Amino acid sequence: MTKNTMSNTDGQSKGTGHPSATRRIRNTLKHMSTSASMMVPVKRAEGGEEVAEPPRWDHKGTDESKRHTKWNGWGYADTKFFVNDEGNVELTGNRYSTIFNTHRVMPSFRPWVEKIMSVDLAYLSLARENYPTLPAPIYNKPFLEDISDRKCYKEIYTDDQCRLYHGHGHTCQEVFELRHHETTKRMPDVVIYPGSHDHVVQIVEAAVKYDVVIIPYGGGTSVSGALECPEGEKRMIVSLDMQRMNRILWVDRENMIACIEAGAIGQDIADKLEKVGLTMGHHPDSEEFSSIGGWVSTRASGMKKNVYGNIEDIVVNFKLVTPKGVLQSGGEFPRISAGPGVMQMAMGAEGTLGVVTEVLVRLRPSPVSRKYSSVVFADFEHGVMAMREIARRRCAPASIRLMDNMQFQFGQALKPLSDTPFQDEILGSIQKAYLFNWEKLEQDKMCAATLLFEGTDKEIKMQEQAVMAVCKEYGGIGGGEENGIRGYFLTYVIAYLRDYGFDFYFMSESFETSVPWANVMGLVEGVNTVISQECKKHGVTVAPFISSRVTQTYDTGACVYTYFGFMYRGMQDPVKAFTAIESAARDEIIRHNGSISHHHGVGKHRKKWVRETVSDTGMTMLKAVKDGLDPTNIMANGNIL
Ligand SMILES: Cc1cc2nc3c(=O)[nH]c(=O)nc-3n(C[C@H](O)[C@H](O)[C@H](O)COP(=O)(O)OP(=O)(O)OC[C@H]3O[C@@H](n4cnc5c(N)ncnc54)[C@H](O)[C@@H]3O)c2cc1C
Repeated sequence: MTKNTMSNTDGQSKGTGHPSATRRIRNTLKHMSTSASMMVPVKRAEGGEEVAEPPRWDHKGTDESKRHTKWNGWGYADTKFFVNDEGNVELTGNRYSTIFNTHRVMPSFRPWVEKIMSVDLAYLSLARENYPTLPAPIYNKPFLEDISDRKCYKEIYTDDQCRLYHGHGHTCQEVFELRHHETTKRMPDVVIYPGSHDHVVQIVEAAVKYDVVIIPYGGGTSVSGALECPEGEKRMIVSLDMQRMNRILWVDRENMIACIEAGAIGQDIADKLEKVGLTMGHHPDSEEFSSIGGWVSTRASGMKKNVYGNIEDIVVNFKLVTPKGVLQSGGEFPRISAGPGVMQMAMGAEGTLGVVTEVLVRLRPSPVSRKYSSVVFADFEHGVMAMREIARRRCAPASIRLMDNMQFQFGQALKPLSDTPFQDEILGSIQKAYLFNWEKLEQDKMCAATLLFEGTDKEIKMQEQAVMAVCKEYGGIGGGEENGIRGYFLTYVIAYLRDYGFDFYFMSESFETSVPWANVMGLVEGVNTVISQECKKHGVTVAPFISSRVTQTYDTGACVYTYFGFMYRGMQDPVKAFTAIESAARDEIIRHNGSISHHHGVGKHRKKWVRETVSDTGMTMLKAVKDGLDPTNIMANGNIL
């Protein structure tokens, strides 16, 4: 996807044959040849270069990304919830200042968690500090020599830290294992960072030739087990980390298209485009860490899908390097009528058909203004009815998310200390008096929606009027801008809470589905009942935490997103129980005509529901595509099929 006339926004040069990369390859091979655990001898360094130590991978990330992330939990290494010396919950670091402006202590959170989740802080279950033991790597010498000769990558790593980091995503099961297990299961043997589309073509070619497995790695935020290596895989497994392919290659303002390398991370893309007054409008909750190649491969969905669409609406075209060659259909035209869309078949393939290397996306001008807001409803059902009517009238703003009562309480409990506690208390009492005495809302039923409007001031005003008119019809009361901002940005922070829960024997996860409007309430109630029953059946002794929200709306239905968790102290095999409960919840979702997934994908966790989702004939089709593009199963991560 070259474009001579367009500008390269970051001006990086192509990486092929970079001298430092070549030196690194040689060093790695040299290291391998002397390593005790090496299974095959490999080539020695040439040219008399003197480097004693092989390069070690550093999870602090590159200078470009500055992403120093945890190896056994979610997010930035400097950001963590903990109980401070005064016994209050506090967030470390200085990130997420939109919510934690001056204070990072949340005085109400601990009592709320103790009451609602039965968490007892006297019992600690801290994560191990040292790395677990990894299985010995399997090396394929001819493959390594071949790619070394071709100089077709930027970096290569073989150390255990790097292998471990690339062998998992962020499911509850994976994180629990990282925290507590002494040894790990099958891990990638080598991690390779390509620097260009051509590098990937050559690596895949060599993998086919020497029968080596490739597992593409984007941002590592998978929540479907998609990055786990299949147990029993005897061939060498290469984790192909795309993060050095992170450039916006060109921007075409006339046609409003950009070409972006697959390893570019969401937040970096957004920041770079924003600087030149443009946006893709794709903002998944994981955007700080997930990549555009990962989004295409999992059919991701962002917070602003109402205005900009889901990833499949934003992507114009992309390149997929398959074991049978490069799949690329057409060019930059907006639509085509030429038989079934082959790129659509490849989208959502989760690394089973090939490697996404470059993505053409549709752009929009950055909005002139943004306005956050919130609405309070008497209960979840009224909120859902309002969301449905907003979707029916096609007046949904960029983002609209409805939280149930439990999540509403949760958000309140997470409020940090204020600079003006006295005034806040008075204001809070007045608001409460108004809501509970005047509007007759009940504290344990009310729920709230957060809203984000984008456009010109005039457009925002019109959108707001239309949305608020519908909300009023269902008893909605304006909740103010500040709550809207908090609700919107809290999303990024909530992901850190799972690690906090783990520290005190509490495990949790989120799952999602899309469901016809008529079934939303039935599904939420059904899932709540099933989780409660299954928890009892599997030995959970206290009531589980269950909370839902509606995160995306469509003409015909909505995305329902559920958090659930339970206290597992004293349980024999909590992960087994957790997996069984999660599976029963998905069965219940499917009974209510909900989808196998709205945006998290299938991976290995939801494979068992694929056949009933796509039908026997659909399964035959998927298998035919897989066999046609990858007859020797090089892309063998075992997802979907
Ligand atoms: C806290 C949290 C919040 C989340 N919020 C959202 C959300 O709002 N919306 C949403 O859609 N998802 C969300 N997710 C899920 C996850 O972020 C998405 O599935 C995301 O698209 C994965 O992108 P990634 O770059 O991290 O891919 P990875 O996790 O690295 O990989 C996911 C799968 O895609 C394959 N893959 C990755 N890159 C490529 C490539 N270049 N070519 C071929 N295959 C590739 C991998 O092999 C793997 O099978 C969330 C996850 C977490 C942990």
